[in-house]
Amino acid sequence: MNILERYHVMEYGPAPEARNEADAWLAGRDFSKALFIGGDWKAAGGGKTFDTSEPSSGKLLAKVSDANAADIDAAVAAAAKALPKWSASSGYQRAKVLYAIGRAMQRHQRLFAVLETIDNGKPIRESRDIDVPLAIRHFIHHAGWAQALDRDFPGQKGVGVVGQIIPWNFPLLMLAWKIAPALAAGCTVVLKPAEFTPLTSILFAEICERAGVPKGVVNIVQGGPEAGAAIVNHPGIQKIAFTGSSEVGKIIRKATAGSGKKLSLELGGKSAFIVFEDADLDSAVEGLVDGIWFNQGQVCCAGSRLLVQEGIADALIAKVKTRMSRLRVGSPLDKNTDIGPLVDLTQLDRVKGLIAEGARQGAVCWQPDATLPSSGYYHLPTLATGVSPANILAQEEVFGPVLATMTFRNTEEAIELANNTRYGLAASVWSENVNLALHVAPQLKAGVVWVNGTNMFDAACGFGGYRESGFGREGGREGMFEYLSAKLPLGPVIKPATSSAQPVEQADGVAIDRTAKLFIGGKQVRPDGNYSLAVATAKGKLAGEVGLGSRKDIRDAVSAARACKSWPEATAYNRSQVLYYLAENLSGRMEEFAARLTELTGANAKAARDEVELSIERLFLYAGLADKFEGRVHQPPARAVTLALHEPVGVVGIVAPDDQPLLGFISLVAPALAMGNTVVAVPSERYPLLATDLYQVIEYSDVPAGAVNIVTGRTAELAVVLAKHDDVDGLWLFTDADTCAKAEAESIGNLKRVWSGNGRSLDWASEDASGDVFLRRAIEVKNVWVPYGD
Ligand code: NAD
Repeated sequence: MNILERYHVMEYGPAPEARNEADAWLAGRDFSKALFIGGDWKAAGGGKTFDTSEPSSGKLLAKVSDANAADIDAAVAAAAKALPKWSASSGYQRAKVLYAIGRAMQRHQRLFAVLETIDNGKPIRESRDIDVPLAIRHFIHHAGWAQALDRDFPGQKGVGVVGQIIPWNFPLLMLAWKIAPALAAGCTVVLKPAEFTPLTSILFAEICERAGVPKGVVNIVQGGPEAGAAIVNHPGIQKIAFTGSSEVGKIIRKATAGSGKKLSLELGGKSAFIVFEDADLDSAVEGLVDGIWFNQGQVCCAGSRLLVQEGIADALIAKVKTRMSRLRVGSPLDKNTDIGPLVDLTQLDRVKGLIAEGARQGAVCWQPDATLPSSGYYHLPTLATGVSPANILAQEEVFGPVLATMTFRNTEEAIELANNTRYGLAASVWSENVNLALHVAPQLKAGVVWVNGTNMFDAACGFGGYRESGFGREGGREGMFEYLSAKLPLGPVIKPATSSAQPVEQADGVAIDRTAKLFIGGKQVRPDGNYSLAVATAKGKLAGEVGLGSRKDIRDAVSAARACKSWPEATAYNRSQVLYYLAENLSGRMEEFAARLTELTGANAKAARDEVELSIERLFLYAGLADKFEGRVHQPPARAVTLALHEPVGVVGIVAPDDQPLLGFISLVAPALAMGNTVVAVPSERYPLLATDLYQVIEYSDVPAGAVNIVTGRTAELAVVLAKHDDVDGLWLFTDADTCAKAEAESIGNLKRVWSGNGRSLDWASEDASGDVFLRRAIEVKNVWVPYGD
């Protein structure tokens, strides 16, 4: 066909990217020695290998060493050996290494892109223009953080040896998201890529050799779930950073419970793509193409649920179908290809299975009329209409080129539908009315919201989820915290409660019942089981009784906390005023609380007064910080601003310590409240009367009903009930190690954010037991991208 003829049919001719350099690279490697450990290339101890194949043809690319537990031991040992020198090196030295990595990657940019496309199947346009440049930007951006550590993160230190496990959908980019911040923070790493896509990580290890990364600072081991589990369970690792499916994320949460390992989980998603009737429909369609068909839909934040306002649904669907018919499915190395193959046959089968099930459940699945290449794991882009909210295509992450469509009538319904998922990774909002978009964005349970756009990423802007999409952020300032730990003023090891007090049945018809009740929904209520616990004075006499809270009481308290909308929706200034008022009212009862402390704990009069005074001071502190611990505005290299907003975590369960029982309780509850969370607190089992004495103070301080709920009783039992409750979003545990471990392990239902002292209390009187470290636990950072310009 000559140019004129081609012009008339408007068809694209083939435009293949050359692969000879990548083939030469493949031919020149011994992949049976592909473990990069301590700066050397090693074979797997067990001598095993696994195959990596080309998704566009199914052909074998390489047989790659498959690490076993002994290899992971060796990698961790190498990382531990390199740690002291690397963590003690200056920020400038680490910055130079990160920068050198970025520059060396730039020199091999094309090879990285071609290899990534060959191994993963993603169109070359994407690996060339998105994956590789973003990965490079990550290293160069984080060179800056290495030098800014002392300035921007005072009092924080790198956590140590880090185990990192990544998926196959963005092999190089996920590697960069993991390794760059870790190195900047002074950590050393053992990283395991996914078994489908090992190649670019091997090229990256070669780059590390050339860029002068000290031996052992970066260790890259190849293998599957077994190698991954060996990393997760290794005692020589201080932090696990995982990106992958929610199922494996939950396994990892359970496996690390009680180990004291820091954990971040970047998991799956079912992100909403919301189109309001005033949206620019053509732009929305282009956004949608990028949102769901980018990387064949194998994207954690894929806009896989199209929510469209009823009045424009038909028009939009018609435009989407027309656009889908023009998507070019074919060789991923062709520069004109929009849709390449899926990564593997197993993934292709999974996608087909989910579509079949979706159709069985009533969805109408439409595909454009196109022919697929005869070999390879290709799948046509698919549009599912008539999808009910409960349909598997609306609920499950397909991780393939499938768009599920639903309609809504008004803004409230759009928000409700968008949030009707167990995930919370990302969302797109399309409207020409930016006021509407910015009204909707904060109401979406998602870590990233794109206004009139989609799939915008940058190294300076945090990325990560809410709910079962995991916890922790990657990128920017928030991402750095994941590799740092604050010096906390550790207090004594907490002993499990040994209270010999037996439950006492509350007598009917007693004229004056002196048992302190529970505090739920702003009211003092009897415990459901009608039992109480005796509380002893320091001298072993009966000081009083408190309600013995049960599972049912926790359920009621969580419902009350969830129902309280006025607190999270109040302005920060309002919350600040209420906290000041609480402080004021507590100070009015200073003598009474001091006497209670002396009676129960045996503290002398001065120590007791000091504790009350410090408690008041802490309320003052958080009242003052309520409107100062704010988000930021990022200016990424795009025509957009990114608003990093601080939002409350939601309902936070707090299990408070025995030490300094009033101060410890207030030091935890006050920051949670200051940031707009509602709280279900379980006070010290030994000294609960200090918390129950607070009821009246809370009642006359204008704290809205349900903002603070207090359930007294057996700490170990109630902590686990809170952990299992799927409507609790965060859980702070300052109780004995055994209870912390059990509660962490039980928190996997909704992957709540758990902060555990691992059986250590803090010195609550220390200034370090207050401030930003606590406030950061009390918030989620939501990044809202707002593009500008015509
Ligand atoms: P996966 O969970 O099956 O595997 C991810 C990694 O974990 C692989 O390296 C695998 O070998 C390893 N692994 C598997 N079982 C393990 C175990 N028991 N212990 C330790 N490691 C184990 O996920 P996948 O299929 O490779 O990737 C797709 C998933 O990743 C999707 O759910 C996607 O949403 C998610 N993802 C999330 C993000 C994000 O930032 N939130 C980014 C990319 C992908």
